[in-house]
Amino acid sequence: RQRDPDQPEFHQAVEEVLVSLWPFLEEHPEYTGHGLLDRMLEPERIIQFRIPWVDDRGEVQVNRGYRVQMNSAIGPFKGGLRFHPSVNLSILKFLAFEQVFKNALTTLSLGGAKGGADFDPKGRSDGEVMRFCQSLMTELHRHIGPDRDIPAGDIGVGEREIGYLYGMYRKLANEVTGTFTGKGRSFGGSLIRPEATGYGLVYFVEEMLKTRGKTLTGQRVAISGSGNVAQYSAEKIMDLDGVVVTFSDSEGTVYNPDGFTESQWDYLMDLKNNRRGRISELAERFDLAFERGAKPWVFPCDIALPCATQNELDTADAEALLGNGCFCVAEGANMPSTLEAVERFQGADILYAPGKASNAGGVAVSGLEMAQNSMRQHWTDGEVDARLHNIMISIHHSCQQYGQKGESTIDYVAGANIAGFIKVAQAMLQQGVV
Ligand code: NDP
Repeated sequence: RQRDPDQPEFHQAVEEVLVSLWPFLEEHPEYTGHGLLDRMLEPERIIQFRIPWVDDRGEVQVNRGYRVQMNSAIGPFKGGLRFHPSVNLSILKFLAFEQVFKNALTTLSLGGAKGGADFDPKGRSDGEVMRFCQSLMTELHRHIGPDRDIPAGDIGVGEREIGYLYGMYRKLANEVTGTFTGKGRSFGGSLIRPEATGYGLVYFVEEMLKTRGKTLTGQRVAISGSGNVAQYSAEKIMDLDGVVVTFSDSEGTVYNPDGFTESQWDYLMDLKNNRRGRISELAERFDLAFERGAKPWVFPCDIALPCATQNELDTADAEALLGNGCFCVAEGANMPSTLEAVERFQGADILYAPGKASNAGGVAVSGLEMAQNSMRQHWTDGEVDARLHNIMISIHHSCQQYGQKGESTIDYVAGANIAGFIKVAQAMLQQGVV
């Protein structure tokens, strides 16, 4: 905290990990020497750079770009790029730190990184987004590569942006390799990658529910956000006979107590992915309730899936959810619940899973995309989906192995942190002080 006083999100992520790891470390002093924890908290490398570009009016804009290469002990750096005006070093360091543990949990050999820029794609033309991505890549290209660092998407970075970024990378590096994941299908993208984080989240929720003898059938599910993770979580929930009751964006929440229909979901996909419109248009089109400025957590639900952004669910939201009978919270976003909200969930003994476990399906399928690119092969959607499903079951198993407390309670936070930590820590200890 003294070294980086202006990084509250990073401190929050570190506190969550260290508090839950502490009892394990007291029992396993072999993991406390060699400056291991100090080294884990310090990124291997941070790159910060200028991104100048020309907007449609001919004016020069300058944004700030970053890549935080956190830890490559178990594999090449891997993590998304985020374009959002709120992007800063604190947010990217928290995301990169979380990514290290998450990637270790996937059973694949992937190190952790995160990057992005304080660029706001909202309201920008395709040409502006392309020129911005190209300018960003004129610097980033020298720091990434298929065996070094493999970026992907995140908030504000979807298939369009990955296409522009990858196109410029290919030109500058003069190579055709799997240096990005989440690519278009025609140039090496994996089937099921767009769906992977959302589907994986729901597979994880199914495993959580099994521990209490429940299924998704008929459960009312509140989802926040309406981007990639929210969209495919909703699709899978609906496939499995759950009832999705909310979507949201930064303007408010649309509520449908009867559950969104397939045609409403189709409308949402077109609205958000092609027309880049606002969620209130979904409410207008189908005559549904829209609460401007409200979060989904005030509406009655059995299961809550925060899928928008960090710290979107605070103490008051946690209390509203518990008061309405919500018994399961699984994070699609990264660190959407504040530390105090997590304490409330754990105190109430409901099922609660942190993002690093429940949203790891996206990066897992990115790992599968890297494998397909290296082999120059394409697996079928069924094959990728089956592997994703098995990975989510295996992550749940790791959480259970290290987080089981009594017969029916699993501390998913401790379980995920300890399992991820052991894998990375062993690799770092065996490789000496580097
Ligand atoms: P998208 O950009 O596709 O969607 C983000 C959604 O969250 C939008 O509905 C957006 O609304 C809303 N949102 C973003 N910032 C805010 C904010 N400050 N306040 C309120 N709403 C906000 O991103 P993704 O779906 O890809 O990512 C969502 C979360 O999931 C992030 O935390 C990301 O790190 C995490 N994640 C994503 C993975 C992936 O594979 N995509 C993998 C693992 C985690 P609006 O349009 O109004 O801004």
